[in-house]
Amino acid sequence: MKTPLECRRDFDILNSGEYVYFDNAATSQRPRQVLDAVSDFYKTANANPLRGLYDWSMEATERYESARKKVADFIGAEHPEEIIFTRNTTESLNLVAYSYGLDNVNEGDEIVITVMEHHSNMLPWQMVARKKKARLIYLEPDMEGIISKEEYTSKITEKTKIVAIGHVSNVMGVTNPVKEIAEYAHSKGAVVVVDGAQSAPHMAVDVKELGCDFFALSGHKMLAPMGIGALYGRLELLENMQPFLTGGEMIEYVTREDATYAELPHKFEAGTVNAGDAVGLAAAIDYIKEIGFEAIEAQEQKLTKLLMDGLKQLPYITIYGSEDPTKHCGIVTFTMEGVHPHDLSSVLNDDKVCIRAGHHCAQPLMQFIGAGSTARASVYFYNTEEEVRIFLDKLSKVREVMGYGA
Ligand code: PMP
Repeated sequence: MKTPLECRRDFDILNSGEYVYFDNAATSQRPRQVLDAVSDFYKTANANPLRGLYDWSMEATERYESARKKVADFIGAEHPEEIIFTRNTTESLNLVAYSYGLDNVNEGDEIVITVMEHHSNMLPWQMVARKKKARLIYLEPDMEGIISKEEYTSKITEKTKIVAIGHVSNVMGVTNPVKEIAEYAHSKGAVVVVDGAQSAPHMAVDVKELGCDFFALSGHKMLAPMGIGALYGRLELLENMQPFLTGGEMIEYVTREDATYAELPHKFEAGTVNAGDAVGLAAAIDYIKEIGFEAIEAQEQKLTKLLMDGLKQLPYITIYGSEDPTKHCGIVTFTMEGVHPHDLSSVLNDDKVCIRAGHHCAQPLMQFIGAGSTARASVYFYNTEEEVRIFLDKLSKVREVMGYGA
């Protein structure tokens, strides 16, 4: 079993040691094992999967379907058919909004989301609410990002048809009480959709334990290539939903007038599938499992504590979210008095330190916390304490560069 730091050598892009990469919440880096698995697919088994009756195509199908089983196992889904491959979390959530939301939400119904949602888990529900004349209701957290029981029990009612909630906020880093909210939402007859983009890379997820009906994730945030994601959906729900996209691969029989659709999961995977990247996602899951979430979380928490302790020494820094580093999931969002986050990020870039600046695709949350824009440093298990020290050192010089005293 490799330690998180031994793993670092597997990431060629990090090996020069030139850059400090602290934008892992936007996308992770990929280890050689993942890149090799993708490359091996194209070198040894490349053919259109699910179609050909010859060796390469059958081998491609076999690798693609075993990747599906791996994802199902990774998040505790009972049946592999409950896993739909998509491009990313955004596509997964849109699939639910279009295929479930539009058919199950009616005039006067309510959809409940939180003000912390990434736009990907907000705009699809705005669309459903607009088209179906339903109301979109926002749960509001306190300044630590915590949604109280009173907040969700007062806003989730018999009128609620869908509760869509981020598992971990990409700004506050807070983990929402999804299990408790799901239990309450179910008692009111609502369906629960979870945006797992920021949780799946960092913690063990069990969709049965969480009690959610849908769960979306992006491969690229958890070591896999860009362009592969997944949606878990409870079998009975998926079976009764209409396809999101139509065309090749997703049919059983087509006449001039009509068509019958393929069985799950293919009903939701129109067109040639992204088998190469699905194989990459399977390799990423193997890689993560080899390290184990216990070690991943321990390393992230150690780095987050170091980072927050350092930031707290700087009087002109405001950190958002909890005071407790173990409640940040590796994400630390902050502002520097007198310096726009874009300037901050650009000055750090001159020192080869990569962080994110902007609204983080969560503009209503920025309005809620009263910041037009923020800076965000986010770590993953392959980051080091030395990198945190470099980051803090370079950060403490930014105000001088911007014309302030130290
Ligand atoms: N939800 C959250 C919480 C995210 O952080 C992100 C990515 N920033 C997304 C959704 C969207 O992910 P993707 O761009 O991979 O679809």
